[in-house]
Amino acid sequence: GDYQPETIASPTPATPGNQLKDISTNDSGVLYHQLRQKPLNIVGGRGSYLITDDGLEILDATCGAAVSCLGHSDKRVHDAIMEQLQKIPYAYSLYFTNNAAENLSRILVDSTGGKMSRAFIVSSGTEAVEASVKMAMQYFRELPTPQPQRVNFISRTQSYHGNTLGSLAVGHHVARRAIYESILTKNVHHVSQCYPYRGMKDGESTEGYVARLAQELEDKFQSLGPDTVCAFVAETMSGATLGCVPALPGYLKAMKEVCERHGALLILDEVMSGMGRTGTLHAWEQEGVVPDLQTIAKGLGAGYAPIAGLLVNKHVVDTLTRGTGAFAHSQTYQGHPVSCAAAYRVQQIIQEDNLLPNVREMGEYLGRLLHEKLGDNPHVGDIRGRGLFWALEFVQNKSTKESYPPSKKIAWTLHTTGLKPEYAISLMPGNGGADGVNGDHICLAPPYNTTKAEIELIVDRASKVIQEVLG
Ligand code: PMP
Repeated sequence: GDYQPETIASPTPATPGNQLKDISTNDSGVLYHQLRQKPLNIVGGRGSYLITDDGLEILDATCGAAVSCLGHSDKRVHDAIMEQLQKIPYAYSLYFTNNAAENLSRILVDSTGGKMSRAFIVSSGTEAVEASVKMAMQYFRELPTPQPQRVNFISRTQSYHGNTLGSLAVGHHVARRAIYESILTKNVHHVSQCYPYRGMKDGESTEGYVARLAQELEDKFQSLGPDTVCAFVAETMSGATLGCVPALPGYLKAMKEVCERHGALLILDEVMSGMGRTGTLHAWEQEGVVPDLQTIAKGLGAGYAPIAGLLVNKHVVDTLTRGTGAFAHSQTYQGHPVSCAAAYRVQQIIQEDNLLPNVREMGEYLGRLLHEKLGDNPHVGDIRGRGLFWALEFVQNKSTKESYPPSKKIAWTLHTTGLKPEYAISLMPGNGGADGVNGDHICLAPPYNTTKAEIELIVDRASKVIQEVLG
C-alpha cells in the first residue's frame, strides 16, 4: 500500500486530577520564569524590533540579554543555517570534527593574534565558565611539576558567571545562590568589584583605588596561601549583575600582575562583554592584558543559535598537549555544526559590515544622549558604560546614593512598564544580585548595526518609562 508517514501520538489529555493545571494560569505547559504570569509571546522580528502575537512592535534596546547583536532578521545568517542543515546537522565531536567548527575556531583564534590558540565550543555561557574552571584545574595537574594543591578560586562580589552549580559558586549572585549555598563549593573566595560609583572613597584617585583593589587581591592570596590559588575570575566589563561597569584604566593589569606573581591563572569572562559589545571584538584588547582562559557567548552567535566558547591561551594548550593530551571534559553538543555555521556567518558579517566602528560611534552617542537627557534626573545616580553597553543606576537620593529597597523591584517595574504598548521598549533590569549593596539599574545594549535615529528613540522611550515609574 501507499507509504503512510508515522504520526506523532497525541499527548494524553489532562485528567481532572491534574493539579498542575489547576494551579497554573497558563495552559500551554511552558514553565515560565514567573510561574504565575505569562510573558508576551514573540512571533516575529525585524531588525531591532520584536513582534508580539498582538502585532505590537517592541524596540529591543537590550538585544535580549546582550545577545542579538545583528538584530532579529538577518537573512544571511538564516541562509548559512539552512546550508549547514542540508550538509550535516550533527556529528559527535568526541569522534569527529566538522567544517563549521573548524572555520569558526580558526577565525576566533586569528582574532586574538594567535595569543589564544584553541577554541572549545559549547552551547551556553554557563558551560563555557564551567569548562574554564575545569581546564584551569587540569592545567595545574599537568604542569611538568604538578601543583594539585591549587584548589582555590577568587572572583568578585556582585559578579555573575552562570547558573549551574560550579559557575554559580564562582559568581556572587546572592539571590540566585541563596537556596543552594549548602552544595556550592567553599573553595571560591570573593574580593571587591571595581565599582567607582560606590567603591571609590572621597578624594581617592583612580590609581589609588586600583592599587587598593590589587592589594585586596594580594591579601586574599596571602590568606589562602598563594600557591593554593588556581585562578582569579572576572568579567572584563561587568555585565548584568552590577550593570555595565567598565574596568578602570590599569585595573585588570594590576590584577593580572598579582596572579602572575603567584603563578595563578587569569580567567576573563567575556560571555556578555565580548565579541564586540564594548567596541573591540575582545574586551581585553582595551585593557592591555591577555587572559589565560577566556569565555565568550552572547554576541558569538547573536541569538541565531545557542553557542558559547572557551578560548584557551597557547601556554595552557601546550601544557595539556604535552600532559595527558586530552581535555578531561566533553559535551554532546560540543562544536555543534549548525550553531557553529550560524556563529561563523555572524562573525563574518561583523567584519564585512564593518560593525565595530559603529559600536564605538553609536555607543558614544548613546552615552552622550543619556547624560544630556537624564544626567539631571534626581533618581539617576550613575550613568556608565562603554561601546553599546550602558547602564543607569537609580537612587532615592542622589547625594546619599541611597538605593531603593529591593522589595520595590524598581528595575523589574521599569522593564514591565517599558513593555506597555505606549512605550514598547524592552529594557534589561538588574539589581546587583539583590544583595542590597547597590541599587537597581537598567542596561541598554542595542544591536551593533543600530542607527542614530534608533538610539534617539531608545533614550526617548526609556526616559518616559523612568518618568512614569519614578516620577
Ligand atoms: N557569564 C556572564 C558574564 C554572563 O553575563 C552570563 C549570562 N548573563 C553567563 C556567564 C551565563 O551565560 P548563559 O546564561 O548563556 O549560561
